[in-house]
This record gives sequence, C-alpha cells and structure tokens, in this order.
Amino acid sequence: MKAIVVTPGIAYSTRIIDIKRPEIRSNEVLVKTIRVGIDGTDSEICLGYYGAAPSGDNFLILGHEALGQVLEVGNNISKKSQSLKIDDLVVPLVRKPGDCYYCLNGAPDMCIGGKYKERGIKGLHGFMSEFFTEDPNYLIRIPKEIESVAVLLEPLSVVEKGIRQAWDIEKRIFWQPKIALVLGLGPVGFLASIVLNLLKLKVFVYSLEKESDPRVKIIKELGIEYISADTDIFKLSSIIKGNIDFIFEATGNSSVALKSMSLIGKNGVLCLTGVTGGNKKLTICADCLNLDLVLGNKIIFGTVNANKIDFEEGIKHMKIINQNNPSLLEKIISHRFTPNEFKQGLENFQGIKAVIEF
Ligand SMILES: [Zn+2]
Repeated sequence: MKAIVVTPGIAYSTRIIDIKRPEIRSNEVLVKTIRVGIDGTDSEICLGYYGAAPSGDNFLILGHEALGQVLEVGNNISKKSQSLKIDDLVVPLVRKPGDCYYCLNGAPDMCIGGKYKERGIKGLHGFMSEFFTEDPNYLIRIPKEIESVAVLLEPLSVVEKGIRQAWDIEKRIFWQPKIALVLGLGPVGFLASIVLNLLKLKVFVYSLEKESDPRVKIIKELGIEYISADTDIFKLSSIIKGNIDFIFEATGNSSVALKSMSLIGKNGVLCLTGVTGGNKKLTICADCLNLDLVLGNKIIFGTVNANKIDFEEGIKHMKIINQNNPSLLEKIISHRFTPNEFKQGLENFQGIKAVIEF
C-alpha cells in the first residue's frame, strides 16, 4: 500500500513509499483510509522540527486527522451491538496513554509523565496510508450524515476541549458569557468561531487575512465581526467595547498570545492553544498585567490535544452546524490532493485546509 512518510528530524525527507498492508491482531480492526487532513504539525514534522518514528522503524507515516471505513474486524472484538462493524465510518484518536495518573484514568490529553504516544507525531505511525489498524477503543464511530466533514473532527476536538475546560473553570461563578474573541483564522480558529457563534456568543475574530479573503467572507455571513491584524491588538478593547468574556487564542504567535492577556474582560478566561517552538522575547509591563489579572478575577490556561468526550461533543456540534448551514463546514476544506500531490499540501500551503483523498 502507498504511505506518505518522513524521516523524523530530517527536513524535506517526506516521500511516498510502498509498504506491506498491515494485518490486524484479534483485538483490532482494519480501516480503509478515506481522507486525511494536513495541519501545521504535519508541516513542521516535514521541516524536521520534531516527530519520532515508532521503535524499530526509521520512518514515520504522517497524518493524525483522519476519516476511514472499517474493512475487517478482529476475532476477539465482540459481536455486541456496541462494537464496530464492517463499513462503519471512524475517526481515530491521536494520543495513546503513557503510565501517569491522568493517562491511566482516561485523560492522556492531560498527561504529566510525557510517556504518551501520538499517531503520526510521536512514536506511532499516522494515517496517511491506504489502510491502518487500530484498537476500537481509539476509534470514534461517525454518523453517515457528517461523513463529508468528519475529517475536521480532530481539529474540532481541540476547540471543544478548550471551550469545555473554559466553561468548567467558570463554574466558579454564575458565568454568563456574552462576548468571545477568537485570535487567528486557521482551521482551529475558524472552527472555534463557528462553535462560539453556535453557542450564541457575540463573536469577534482578529487575524492576518485581508477583508477580501474567502474565509473572512464566510464568517461575516454568520454575523461574526472581523478585525484585520492591520489594527493594533491593544485597540481591540475599544473597538469591541463590551466585556470580553472569553478569548480563544489560535494564532501560533506567542506575541499575540502574551498581548491578548491584557484584553481579557473582568471574570473572563483566556484559552491558549498555539504551539510556539522558538525563543522569542517580549517586554511587557509586568505590574500592569499582574494587577489587571488580580483585580479582574481573570484566568489564563493552556490546552493541548483532546479527550474522547471532546470528539463526541464535536460530532453533536457538526450535526447541528450541518443542519443549520449545510455547506459551511465543507467550505473549510479548501483543497483536496491525491497522495502523489502530498507536497502541495505540506509545503507552503496557503489555503484554509488541505486534505489528502485516498
Ligand atoms: Zn501520562
């Protein structure tokens, strides 16, 4: 079978190879890959910044945002109505638990031991191959009605986790959020603005795109307000006016993340999702920031990856979004490539979201 692989740590080593189709163990299912999304993590692995091959292999199959269809079911998988069946559509989870308290209690996304593995990223092959095998405990069954957009479920799960945790944190008070600010209009920021709009918040988005960008047009049609990054970030409070209850930061730019701390409204919460690998320095007024956070009862938290429950919540939201606005989520998938065209999606990609169709 064809597989798109990289030699971790070696820039531009991405290639397509022919390898043996995997065979299932009795507790696994064989999945035929339908499509795989490409994100910034994949591009950074291709640039050699990180990524780790499974032990015993000198290459890593890329890809962690996948949709597939069950082709074969292992002998030990129970025939109960709950278990996966041939032809079921599935989206795989990315992270596999290590041995810390959180991993052992169903929350590998909150791992503190660092021994977790991630498919297509750290120690396990990903899904950019014609077939893959998986334990059904790490597969989410997908309703047929969201098949065309389910490849977005993994990035959506990151959004869902951020929102779930913010709302959980704010159980400290009788929180009534009205205004949300999303920073960045990549796929994660885009999905966050759609979900927050669905949750009936007044949503503002601040990002680099010009007003003429197709994605700006799409969010404006939803009633979301767009402010281009030509505007100084510190002016956002005066433009937005009301109390900014929730900020979802998804620019991948640490300066924006730091500066956005001064925009949080009273009793508000800032959720940071951007991964920044550099060592950028920034001078801030530490007294001002500290005073502002204390006097305003403000919260800042970071979030990575997602729990199984966030994938389930994402499915619920996808169904509602599809009913309200049938083509909205599909518009996020701006480019579709064949496996042989992998370079166009992985190197210098400029669209909203690229997927590889298998
Ligand atoms: Zn752990």
